[in-house]
Amino acid sequence: MPAVSDSPDEFRLIADLFAPLSRGYPGALGLTDDAALMRPPPGMDMVLTVDAMVEGIHFLPDDPADLVARKLVRVNLSDLAAKGAVPVAVMLAAAFPHNVTGAWLRRFADGLRLDLEAFSIALIGGDTVSTPGPLTLSLTAFGQVAAGTALLRSGARAGDRIWVSGSLGDGAAGLRAAQGLLGDARPEHVGYLADRYRLPRPRTGLGPELVGHAHAAMDVSDGLVQDLGHLCRASAVGAEIRADGVPLSPAVAALVAADQSWLATVLTGGDDYELLFTAPPEETEALIQIAARTGVALTPIGSVVPGSGVTVLDADAVPMRLGPAGWRHFRQSPSGDAT
Ligand code: ADP
Ligand code: MG
Repeated sequence: MPAVSDSPDEFRLIADLFAPLSRGYPGALGLTDDAALMRPPPGMDMVLTVDAMVEGIHFLPDDPADLVARKLVRVNLSDLAAKGAVPVAVMLAAAFPHNVTGAWLRRFADGLRLDLEAFSIALIGGDTVSTPGPLTLSLTAFGQVAAGTALLRSGARAGDRIWVSGSLGDGAAGLRAAQGLLGDARPEHVGYLADRYRLPRPRTGLGPELVGHAHAAMDVSDGLVQDLGHLCRASAVGAEIRADGVPLSPAVAALVAADQSWLATVLTGGDDYELLFTAPPEETEALIQIAARTGVALTPIGSVVPGSGVTVLDADAVPMRLGPAGWRHFRQSPSGDAT
């Protein structure tokens, strides 16, 4: 593989742009050694996650470089939050095309610095290569959680309430807003939604607060119904949720009010990066207090049931069938699986 390391530029790039982003983390060794060191405090588990983004697939060639960097950080921190972990550090593997400009790289590093500071984490290493293909970025994130307490997808139990943070549908509607496809919507809604798509808000404050209260958790990145289906399979349970109980931002509520078919997009669209979790009913009061303390809305949307599959009920308690082509009413199939 052709490494940029053959060119003197790589070392200047690392020293100038990336080394300051280690932000004094001792084990980063100033990004001057072969590897980084990390010593978890006694009694803590490390939580590790990695996400890759490819130009043309996960971001557009003309997306601002700082926002690309920040989204890369944020989608990873969302995974840590979903496990109840406090983020500590990240490592970056970057494959830059030959024609990447210094201006692009500086703006990328600026965005990275902004979010590393915002979330109090350090860049502790990585790798830099060049590629004939599209710009490809991979970020590995490290977090910490008290040993044995990480929130897993597999802990849901029948009788749990299902909760979701924030609002859903902003990511999917935001993609359309960013693409200029929401011409009829109010300008302030279009602006809000496009921002939500470009700059996810990982629930890093909320996630660790859920430890000891939630039975199971994950982040919603591929759409509520699909992701809840994953959680149910991991926990060997089913779920029943009410479509009209799903929390909506004013912008998405306006879209749904104008055209009910938006509801399917809310339920199945991706890029929300909210937390989806289950907790026994007796935790409700504690969760209301956590919502107040963290400033993140928490909404119960249904319950965990014995069996398998996700059933979505409409306002008349009739199961909905959701698919790429939208949804229609249907009588529950034997599996009860509406995905
Ligand atoms: P090696 O050849 O031993 O893998 P490199 O020359 O690739 O080392 O990297 C030198 C140092 O720079 C290492 O500490 C590495 O972690 C860091 N580094 C290289 N690329 C990046 C990057 N994109 N982001 C952060 N750190 C990087
Ligand atoms: Mg080496």
